This record gives sequence, structure tokens and C-alpha cells, in this order.
Amino acid sequence: EPAASSRAVLSVCCYCGTGCGVQIRSQGNRVVEVTGDREHPSSHGKLCSKGMNLAATVKADGSRILSAQLRRHKNEPRQPIALMSALTIAARVLADTIDKHGPDAIGFYLSGQLLTEDYAVFNKLARALVGTNNIDTNSRLCMSSAVSAYKLTLGADAPPACYEDLDCAETVFIAGSNTAFAHPVLFRRLEAAKARNPAMKIIVVDPRRTDTCAIADLHLPISAGTDVALFHAMLNVMVWEDLIDRDYIAQHTEGFDALKQRIHDFTPKSAEELCGVPAADIVQCARWFAQSKSTLSLYTMGLNQSSSGTAKNAALIHLHLATGQIGRPGAGPFSLTGQPNAMGGREAGGMATLLPGHRDPDNAAHRAEAAALWGVEQLPQTRGLTAVDMFDAVLAGKIKVLWIAGTNPAHSMPDQTKVRAALAKAEFVIVQEAFAHTETLAYADLVLPASTWPEKEGTVTNSERRISRVRAVIKPPGDAKSDWRLACAVAKKLAAKIAPAKAALFNYRDEAEIFAEHARFTAGRDLDYSALSYARLEAEGPQQWPYTSARTDSVRLYQDGIFPTASQRARFMDIGYTPVADPVSAQYPLRLTTGRLRDQWHTMNRSSLAPMLTRHEEEPRMYLHPVDMQRYRIGEDSLVKVTSRRGEFIAPARRDTGLKPGHAYIPMHWGSAFMAGDGVNALSHSVCDPISHQPELKHSAVGLEAL
Ligand code: SF4
Repeated sequence: EPAASSRAVLSVCCYCGTGCGVQIRSQGNRVVEVTGDREHPSSHGKLCSKGMNLAATVKADGSRILSAQLRRHKNEPRQPIALMSALTIAARVLADTIDKHGPDAIGFYLSGQLLTEDYAVFNKLARALVGTNNIDTNSRLCMSSAVSAYKLTLGADAPPACYEDLDCAETVFIAGSNTAFAHPVLFRRLEAAKARNPAMKIIVVDPRRTDTCAIADLHLPISAGTDVALFHAMLNVMVWEDLIDRDYIAQHTEGFDALKQRIHDFTPKSAEELCGVPAADIVQCARWFAQSKSTLSLYTMGLNQSSSGTAKNAALIHLHLATGQIGRPGAGPFSLTGQPNAMGGREAGGMATLLPGHRDPDNAAHRAEAAALWGVEQLPQTRGLTAVDMFDAVLAGKIKVLWIAGTNPAHSMPDQTKVRAALAKAEFVIVQEAFAHTETLAYADLVLPASTWPEKEGTVTNSERRISRVRAVIKPPGDAKSDWRLACAVAKKLAAKIAPAKAALFNYRDEAEIFAEHARFTAGRDLDYSALSYARLEAEGPQQWPYTSARTDSVRLYQDGIFPTASQRARFMDIGYTPVADPVSAQYPLRLTTGRLRDQWHTMNRSSLAPMLTRHEEEPRMYLHPVDMQRYRIGEDSLVKVTSRRGEFIAPARRDTGLKPGHAYIPMHWGSAFMAGDGVNALSHSVCDPISHQPELKHSAVGLEAL
């Protein structure tokens, strides 16, 4: 390649919600190097193994979808077709379905991998043109319990803390997060802070002694699913020992008295029985939390992926409100976002339960505001279906056409037997995808070839509310196009058939125009970044929201103790403890939990392309405590069949002394594209939290037998 064709752009890693800045160097149309961006304010040049190996995942032979594909009958193989024809067919199918069955016979299932601009266009297409609220994303499986709890307690879906808080917290309370694997760059930052300040106390709550426990002063090996009982017991200790901040509670909160009654019976002793952790450790934990000058909580899927996910999140936030550990350096509840742009997706309203700018589709005034901003008369009122309900509706024949973009539900959704039956039953499935080997492609009637990192322009928002530009450095292969361009092209063709005047709604020249429209939706809202633009991001680099023309301090939220609720006070919720939905029994006596490995990402379509990343763990295994290995007479690496009330999973067994006896652990990554049989979600349960509608992926009752 001639030296003149060499380029370098600043962008963001496309894996986790840490949102590390990267510099991507290309030569010709090849990515040759990805390094950390030292100027990025969230990551300062640091990358983990996944980020460092990004270059190896680009353009691997045979890994990409290069053209549109169509099958004319369900039992025929798909054939490549021209992209223009595919877009026309997609528009025709949507128009026919609206005509015959109404707009709610269509569902959109999107991804936290999409950029904010993709979300914004899909959301407009679904609600303002098709006329349905059936638009949800895999963020439903990721952060929706955190969202519900933030809104119920603090008044807005806004993580109040920032990464700087990792440097200055005196106590860090990590619950349901293997930060060392899931957010490695943040974990390294925490390690460095602990090395600088050995007095820093780190508490980890997890049924497994994970790698995160390497820096823990106290590990509470809690029984899976009992977090609310633990947090209530900690609050009980704080009340009993007068460790609460009465002034903060009186001046800035409401609802404490009812909660105080509720937690009365959650003594450390009763929690010891329920949670399986020593009462003395619960007391110690409560003291460190309340007495430290600054306590920061880090949490993610262990709390969120639960049938009581909202209650778990809220019960943890209560501890911060009761002790005034919020709105100060080093203090606050801090949900770590799983996906790279689950936050941006929420901002753009790309979920059934949201409208752009953190608005609520059940609120008539919010619907009217969004309709006016989009320039349409009205938006649909019928409640949209959330992920699990959407696939149930497909199975029930209510949703006829499903458009899936950037996600792989035939592996990632719980209760795979049901989900795959739904996909097989759908009248027409459009799969918009970049990678050629996802499990979901087996169900696609029409495939639209999508471009991906590092071929796309746009923005993402990371866990600390920081918006960064994602930049393209190479051209996409074959006919692949940006997700928003594919959505826009279909929207224009669909508008021509059903509402010609609305075609103009999709006349975007580029991503900057979409962002400008999206930013207007945030004006006057809690996340207001109406003063932000591509030009500002270019000139000033990544920015945290809120970002208004007044440019007030947005590093930490709620520093003034004023919350975005009607009373301007934060709320304690009167919530109880609910056991897991899938009870253990004689037939299914083990509690199965799942999680990420350090070097793989979700359903492995990208991360499996980097040979270095598969070395960490080459195959899926089921981990068991030695006591359980002995009980089942299973040797190291013996093949076991794991069964739940829904399906089965076969893998070699491994002993794990860090696992709580009676518990089992399987990594989430491998599915039928990489192993014989379905992945771990053949076992998982689709029961959802009643408020967040997030399924209980973190706990299933299972039995096993040696093969
Ligand atoms: Fe990418 Fe997350 Fe690793 Fe940062 S910590 S390099 S965002 S995977």
C-alpha cells in the first residue's frame, strides 16, 4: 500500500459501556492498528485485551455479509439479491402488513451496538411512520432494571457518578458485577486507586469469588437472587447503629419512614439465613458503607438480569440516599452499562417504554412533544411490546413481521426453545446484520447487509454519560451500508406507499443532521444536550451530559441535593424481597448463574475473529464447587448434561473453589454457531421483572448428570 493511503482517526471501542477511546490506523482499506486514545477523558489511552485486539477482528475472510439475501419460501435457501430490490421488498412487506393487520403486527428488535443516529432513525420509522410502539432492543436484557430504579428513586434515567469517582472513593461496593472481566479498564483504574490508597475498602457481593475479588477486602458470597434481603439488612444495621444521615434524609428525600418499617425484620441474622453470608460480614459491610467519607457502588447484570431487578437496584440506591453517599466526589450509585451504546439508545428513545429525550410513551404530553418535534400529527398510543413479550407475540401470531438489527436473539434471548419457535413462525423476518454466522440468520427471510465498526460514523454515550464520536476509517465491504441508511432507504420507500408526505422526514444528508435533530429532543429534559453538535464534539472532544449553552458542571449529578422528581426530592421505595422465579427442587437442585469471560463479547460474532481472544477460554464449560463435583461423582473435564425446566446444555465440567456450593456457572458466549447444541439460554427462564420487563437471565434452577 502506498504510504499516502495511510490514515488515522479517533473513535471508541465497540465492546463494553466503558467506552474507551481508540485511535484506528488504516492503510488503504485495511485497519492495521488500534491503540488507546490518550486524550480520551474516560480512558486516557487504556484498553483491555478486547480493545487491543480489535484490528484482528476487521475484514476476516468470510466473516461478513456482503450482499442482501432473500428466500422466497421458508424451505428454500436464501439467494443474493440487489440491495435496491431488497429495500423495495422490505418496504412492500411492511406496507402490506400494515394494510392487512395494522401497524402493531410489525416489531423492531434492535441493539445496544447501534449508534445513537441509527436508533434515532429506526425510532422515527417505527413510531412516526409505521405507527407502532413495538420497538425494543437487547438493552432490555442489559440495563432496563437500572433505568427503572433510577427513575423511581432519583427521578431520571441518569447515572449520577463518573469514572473519576473510582479514583477518590474510600469504600467501593461492587454488587453483581465481575468488573475485572466485564469492564476491565475501569477495574484497572480501581486497582490503581487501591494501590495509591491501601485504606480504600472494597466489598464484592457475588455468588462466585470472581477475579474482581482479587482486590476485595470483603467478599460476600451471596446466594443468587437474594440481593434485596442483603441490602435491606444493611439498611437495618445502619438504622439500628444510627449510621444514617438524618439531615440528608430530611432535606432531600421522601418515603423513608415506610421503608424503615419494611426493613425492620431484615436483621443481619435473618439475612444470613436467606443470603447465606455471615451476619457479622453484613454488619461490617454496612459500617464501611455508611461510615466512609465517600462510598461508590458499582453494579451491573447481577442486579439487572432478575425478576426483581428494579427492586435490587432501588434497594442499593436506598443505601446511598440513607447515608447521603451521593452527589459528592467518590460517592454515588453507579450502574456500569453493558453495551457500548445502551445509554445512547435510551436517550434516543429506542425502546418500547421510552420516547426520545427520556420521554414516556404513556404520557400524552410527551407523545405530543415528540410528535411536534418529528413534525407529525400524533404518535401511536398502544403500549409497545418489550423484548420477551415481543417474541411471545410473534409466537402467538400477533406480530407477523419482525425486523432485527445488530443483535442475535436466537442466542441471546432467554428460553431459546420458545424464541426459536417464534422466529420460525414469523411470517417474515428481516435481519439487518454485519456478521455472516449469527444463529439468528437461520430464520431470516430477508437479509440486509450492515456496515459496522470501523466503517460507520455516529456517536455513542458511555456509562459516565459521555458522548463520543465514532468515526469511519475504512469503507464497508460489498453492499454493506450504515444501519441508519438502510432504515432510511426503506422508510422512504414505505412512505411513498402509505404516507407520501412523510418521505421528507427521512431526508438526512449525514449523521450530523440526525444528531442535530436528536439533540433538539433533549432540550429542557434531564439529559439536555441541545447545545451539543458534531462541530462541538470535533472542537472539544467527548462531552458529558447535560451539555447546555449555560455549561454548568455535569461531571456529577445531584450535587445540590435537588432531584428531577415532582417534589425535587429523591424517593425511597417501599419494596419487599421476592425470591427467584425458578425455584430449586429435587430434580433441579442447583442454582445456575451466567456471566462474561474476559476475552469474549456477547455471542462472539466479532470477538471470535481475533485468535488471541479465544486462548483465554477455548470452549464453554460448566463450573461447579468441588463439593458438588463429588456429590454428582463428576471428574474434571467430564462431560455433563445440564437440564432446566426448559432445555439442556452439554459441556465439560470444571471445579471452581470460588463458587458457592449449590451454585453452578456457565459463560454466556457460546451458542450453536460455535458448539453442538444451543447455548446456555436453552436453560434460562424468560420470566421478567414486572416494572423493567428485564428477564431473569442470571438465575435458573438446573439439574445435571454425568455423560
Ligand atoms: Fe473496549 Fe470495554 Fe475493554 Fe474499554 S474496557 S477496551 S470499552 S471492551
